[in-house]
Amino acid sequence: MQTNFSLAQLADPHVAESEKILRKCVHCGFCTATCPTYVTLGNELDSPRGRIYLIKDMLENGRPADKEIVTHIDRCLSCLACMTTCPSGVNYMHLVDHARAHIEKTYRRPLLDRLTRAVLAFVLPYPGRFRAALKLAGLGRPFIGLFEKLPALRPVAAMLKLAPSSIPPASPTASPGTHAGQGVKRGRVAILTGCAQSVLDPAINEATVSLLTRLGIEVVVPEGEGCCGALVHHMGREDQALASARQNVDAWTRAIDQGGLDAVIITASGCGTTIKDYGFMLRLDPAYADKAARVSALAKDITEYLAALDLPEPVRKPGTIVAYHSACSMQHGQKITRQPKELLARAGFVVREPREGHLCCGSAGTYNILQSEISARLRDRKVKNIEATGASVVATGNIGCITQIASAAKLPVVHTVKLLDWAYGGPRPEGIPEERLAAAE
Ligand code: SF4
Ligand code: SF4
Repeated sequence: MQTNFSLAQLADPHVAESEKILRKCVHCGFCTATCPTYVTLGNELDSPRGRIYLIKDMLENGRPADKEIVTHIDRCLSCLACMTTCPSGVNYMHLVDHARAHIEKTYRRPLLDRLTRAVLAFVLPYPGRFRAALKLAGLGRPFIGLFEKLPALRPVAAMLKLAPSSIPPASPTASPGTHAGQGVKRGRVAILTGCAQSVLDPAINEATVSLLTRLGIEVVVPEGEGCCGALVHHMGREDQALASARQNVDAWTRAIDQGGLDAVIITASGCGTTIKDYGFMLRLDPAYADKAARVSALAKDITEYLAALDLPEPVRKPGTIVAYHSACSMQHGQKITRQPKELLARAGFVVREPREGHLCCGSAGTYNILQSEISARLRDRKVKNIEATGASVVATGNIGCITQIASAAKLPVVHTVKLLDWAYGGPRPEGIPEERLAAAE
């Protein structure tokens, strides 16, 4: 596509990057067919191509964001299905990230929207604050119906609906330290403890550490690591996202210096997509560019890492029918499509793939809070397709999808690594009734 940026505009490296991306788009519109918001709303401006035009117009004219562009960019899930579909290699992720940062800098949102976003950015990335907020959620639950009737308070209602009624205690696995591998040492990795996942389901990382150490891998939880920054990055809060990225790059660089790392293991694919992008996010920071690129190169989803290991025979041969839901950040963000299914099949599960597997479940970071109506439509469509597989259990690799799908599905939804850990000798995943796996025990 032809662009018309001035030389002065192109002196800004963010604009120059976006211009390169815009030029690649040939407006063929292939991406519209797989875009969940276009499929749901049927409006060109809620398609990738429509958003690309809006962003181009805003950036070329050096305009502040207006209500129209904010509406349509806010509705984008950042699911990146458009990037999988695009035949021209348009990097929509970097383009929309730039647009979101521009919106954050130039647009004043209504007061309640600002407040909601500020609270989310203050609470979600910090496990202690998030834990306290979930405990307080019980007080607000009786008012969900009331909040739902007031459009400005719908995000509060959505938050309260998603908050679990009980939360597990904090896991010692999340504390800094080293978990030695059993037997002959086969490798050394760091693990991201993360933020929301460590509160909502600490058993995911417990299963990961248990499985890896049984396979002879030493697992380090480095001092000083924290939220990957994805949640605030998708809200356009660039400074906060970059601060998180720098903090993690420092923590993992220390771990590399203290004994080397074969990988940085990530068990939430939403975080994986962002950490693999640290090299790009920090490319303009001379103090961090190289270190960040090194960290990005080491970042591996747990299934990506396991698939490259020479695994022993599983202890159990389950035969359980599992519907595998591929998170958008897994399939579109990281292009990891084969490994989780192959690992599950190798471990003895019968893997079924739901129809419309490319479509987002509507979780998408804070999307299910900030865009709860579209999110609920996508969730219900996803759950219907999952339940049609006839599976006993749903497996997926992202805590956001687990929470979202579990809020409507009749089946238990677990992280893939918990099923793998069980098949390779670990405990039965909590939350899966015994009868669903019993036949295999
Ligand atoms: S598929 Fe790619 S090239 Fe075609 S309109 Fe979409 S982003 Fe542009
Ligand atoms: S990221 Fe997802 S929701 Fe956004 S434009 Fe692309 S396909 Fe549509």
